Amino acid sequence: MRHLRGTSRGVHAGRGPRPHRVPDSAAPGRVHRGGPPVSHCISVAHSFETAHRLPHLPGKCESLHGHSWWAEVTVTAPRLAAGMVVEFGPFKSALRRWIDDHLDHGVMLGPDDPLVGVLRQHGTKLYEVTGWPTVENVAAMLAEVAAEQLADIVRAPGSFVSSVVVRETAVNRAAWTAP
Ligand SMILES: [Zn+2]
Repeated sequence: MRHLRGTSRGVHAGRGPRPHRVPDSAAPGRVHRGGPPVSHCISVAHSFETAHRLPHLPGKCESLHGHSWWAEVTVTAPRLAAGMVVEFGPFKSALRRWIDDHLDHGVMLGPDDPLVGVLRQHGTKLYEVTGWPTVENVAAMLAEVAAEQLADIVRAPGSFVSSVVVRETAVNRAAWTAP
């Protein structure tokens, strides 16, 4: 039993990081052979049932009404760290928790909406979206939230929230993309 299987060649012995692997973060540029540099993206999605209204727009959106919203947040990194852009678990739970706590089964209104005071008085779960709660503004708001959460999570160097897509109905959606 002088040679345990594999250990004499430096093959992973079951403890700690695999010694034969070069950390991805050390790989320069992640370039396709002969091609341009590439980047890596991951996306997490969540849905929420939330009311809103757009009283500044004449038409049916003036009335308080609800949608089954769906949001997808994408994070991009120029190179991977430990094979990842970001660890899915913590990022997904942080994003989903925030949406569940602040939006799900609540109401999104613009700060100037006179319903804000009334609904708060009655204990309604309410989130004020800068401007008005259009699908475009909801996407921008979620981009800000996701960026704050990403800052607290282990992630690849240079990773950032690159896009947020929000759908309010099966046929209406808006995308926010990083400038
Ligand atoms: Zn609507």
